[in-house]
Amino acid sequence: MHPSTRTSSLWRPWTPITQQAGSLRIVEALGNRVRDVEGNWYLDGISGVLNASCGHGHPRLIEAATQQLQRLVHYDPMVSSHDPAETLAARLAELLPGDLNETVLLNSGSEATEAALRIALQYWRNLGEHRDRVITFEAAYHGTTFLAQQLSKLPFTVSEWTPPFPIEHVALPAAPRELRTEEGADALIAAFAQALEAGPPAAAVMVEPLLGLGGCVVLPAGFLARLRELCDRHGALLILDEVFCGFGRTGRMFGFEHEGITPDLVTMSKGISGGYVPLAAVTVTSRIKETFVREPVAQGLRYGHTTGGHAVASAVGNTVLDVMTDEKLVENAAAQGNALLEGLRKLEASPLITDVRGLGLVVAIEADTPESAAAIAEASAQAGVMTRAERGVIRIAPPLTLTDDDTAEAVAKISGAVDVALARR
Ligand code: PLP
Repeated sequence: MHPSTRTSSLWRPWTPITQQAGSLRIVEALGNRVRDVEGNWYLDGISGVLNASCGHGHPRLIEAATQQLQRLVHYDPMVSSHDPAETLAARLAELLPGDLNETVLLNSGSEATEAALRIALQYWRNLGEHRDRVITFEAAYHGTTFLAQQLSKLPFTVSEWTPPFPIEHVALPAAPRELRTEEGADALIAAFAQALEAGPPAAAVMVEPLLGLGGCVVLPAGFLARLRELCDRHGALLILDEVFCGFGRTGRMFGFEHEGITPDLVTMSKGISGGYVPLAAVTVTSRIKETFVREPVAQGLRYGHTTGGHAVASAVGNTVLDVMTDEKLVENAAAQGNALLEGLRKLEASPLITDVRGLGLVVAIEADTPESAAAIAEASAQAGVMTRAERGVIRIAPPLTLTDDDTAEAVAKISGAVDVALARR
């Protein structure tokens, strides 16, 4: 160690090596605001990593974690169970439609993807069929473990040493803006139909209700319902990744509720614990779970983690559900999301902006270049609103506890940031 040259021993994923030092350091957060080490407070326009959906420092969530720590920290989640995990699994079964009743509790969205794929593929083997092909969007993001990253073709997630796995990627047939037209919707469903028809029968189709890291692409109305029909016709399982959209983010408890469909498997993380502790889940139908009595080695699921369904995390997850109900956070996300989108849509008149889109409390502003997007996000942070610019898209996804005043502030300051970026160009 050379203290004179070393500024940090923390290696932060995705941040370029030359930019690891001297970046933003957050020291505290309360409600919808966060403070950096220099004392600047920001409106948290990105909810941490889209997970702080109940806001920061919520006394009920802190109390839930504290009480559980005092009672039982955790115990073997493989051969035993405890009340917080049992309760959370039961409540998810209540919340989710159809016979989505069987939940495996995990720690991260990537683990939930890993589990969902392993369950989907093993399901077919349990039935005596060998279906390996999985179909996803090219611009999907389902996580970064070796298996999860293969579901995407986004260059920042795929590694160079990907072992071959039969994933079929479907490219977006049009730009996000055109996708929202009738022709765009038809072209998109035709692309999935073609992928399902070409090649051996698919095991599963896995999609997000809205392409999050793939550019905050709002999928056309009716797409998920038509995809459900398509999967049924081909006998493929439909896996919905609700890591980004679940728990109120899109103005409904789950993104797929906009289309009134029932998936076969649902993955969840982020909002499930409000970001207070690591927690994730995959819920599958009883029909799928029942086939595992025929699993040849374990007669069960050969997948799990020591801290999966951690008692403290599960206790927080249960309280998140209470807070969401008591504070009407889903309804608030829908109302504030509409106001935010309406306010920011005016930016489409700016020469820097090519599209403004959103669903609930996810709003994306697409700029003409990645440099413009970065400049707008920087000016917005200087004005006191934290957003995230990635590959030309500025993402805004504040806590679901956003107030009318917060929304007005976000619209005013982000709009001002677009003017500042234009003047600086
Ligand atoms: N799925 C989606 C839709 C996501 O947005 C993410 C993370 O952003 C993941 C999966 C991976 O979750 P994690 O970062 O917890 O592994």
